[in-house]
Amino acid sequence: MTYDATLSVEQELERFMSGLVRRNPGEEEFHQAVHEVAATIIPFIHDKPRYRKAHILERLTEPDRVIIFRVCWEDDEGNVRVNRGYRVQCNNAIGPYKGGLRFHPDVTLSTLKFLAFEQTFKNSLTGLPMGGGKGGADFNPKGKSDSEVMRFCQAFMTQLSRHIGQNTDVPAGDIGVGAREIGYLFGQHKRLTNEFTGVLTGKGLSYGGSLVRTEATGYGAVYFLQDMMREKGTTLEGKTAVVSGSGNVATYAAQKLMALGAKVVTLSDSSGYIYDPEGLDEEKLAFILELKNVRRGRISEYADKYGVTFVEGKRPWEVPCDVALPCATQNEINKKDAEALVSNGCVAVSEGANMPTSEDAVAVFQAAGVVFAPSKAANAGGVAMSGLEMSQNSGRISWTEDDLNKQLSDIMKNIHHTCAEYGREGDHVDYVKGANIGGFIKVAEAMLAYGVL
Ligand code: NDP
Repeated sequence: MTYDATLSVEQELERFMSGLVRRNPGEEEFHQAVHEVAATIIPFIHDKPRYRKAHILERLTEPDRVIIFRVCWEDDEGNVRVNRGYRVQCNNAIGPYKGGLRFHPDVTLSTLKFLAFEQTFKNSLTGLPMGGGKGGADFNPKGKSDSEVMRFCQAFMTQLSRHIGQNTDVPAGDIGVGAREIGYLFGQHKRLTNEFTGVLTGKGLSYGGSLVRTEATGYGAVYFLQDMMREKGTTLEGKTAVVSGSGNVATYAAQKLMALGAKVVTLSDSSGYIYDPEGLDEEKLAFILELKNVRRGRISEYADKYGVTFVEGKRPWEVPCDVALPCATQNEINKKDAEALVSNGCVAVSEGANMPTSEDAVAVFQAAGVVFAPSKAANAGGVAMSGLEMSQNSGRISWTEDDLNKQLSDIMKNIHHTCAEYGREGDHVDYVKGANIGGFIKVAEAMLAYGVL
């Protein structure tokens, strides 16, 4: 595709997207993530030929490389099992590739390309030197024994270890990859390379992990929400919050919401949601953490224990609230859900999960004046803390919890500031536009500096 200065913004967007869809057939999540970015970046670069002539957006949407490999392991009955592993190394213009690993049966190349693309912008927004990547496998850890998960992780890392390194690519956790999996993956990498380096983040505290990493994504999404509320002249005190998910991001988002005086009335998992009108408290949250991280049980057990409603097979967006935090997975809020949230009084949405809101649902929020924080800004606290874990590993030092909490809150404030700088429109902020442009500029400038690569 050659540079054509005569095209209008609409023609340029149409030409760009049709080329992308043609080159990446069937990858709907990837198309969605790119379209959401292109819709704000193409107007922004329209009068900036240095970006357009260098085809920065086209280069950003073609990953540096995609690695796909077979993962072969034995289950507890001695059956041979075969899964597919991936690592998408999207862009390393501003630092080593960085982004999580997802183990979930629905993982496809499209999922990981969308996540790696988003990660490139998110990592740029943190202000830390990290490029964008993402990986994983179509392996389902649910229902597997610890030994099976260990054998899978070891087989996965045996392949992945050829492609990662502390200065090359530093993976972390994501859906289905928590403390247990990171331990097995890191152990296998150490065994294979005979090196103890910060090649993964989200590690346990006894072997190079960072304080506050576990909490950082959820806390960060709430700090960002707090900043948006402040911008609107209000606070989280006394607000009712609807949260989806009950994993790493959801539980710590819930904890920080409670600490800031909000009432969290829902959590969910893939089987449904619980509605607790009294709201969560620390004891109930401790029950969830034990249920999900130790017993690996279902959210319905919360309803049984505390005598509240469990709504099977549904998501919590029908529950009246002031603020909503989708913290489970992509595309969990559709247009109808967004309409229900708006008509039930929701005034702000902060995306803890990656791309949980479909594009038409985002449009519903924006049209209704609901302040909306896209994931690449709102959930960047997790990867930011991973960046700080990398710094601590390189320097062989450990920072204190207070230090790290302060750094996390400063980073989230800076991201909010960047979004406001590029997204301000009259008396309100378009956070989608602000996050996309703010994330784009730094990566684009580095790419221009390198010439044609
Ligand atoms: P976890 O595996 O800890 O938890 C995921 C939660 O989401 C579980 O409650 C799970 O329920 C639910 N869930 C997963 N898939 C679906 C689905 N298809 N439908 C309904 N519910 C589902 O993952 P995380 O909390 O780490 O990640 C959640 C989201 O946050 C993801 O989008 C991830 O990419 C994003 N994120 C995570 C970061 C991190 O630091 N961990 C950093 C930045 C973003 P069930 O157990 O039933 O599957």
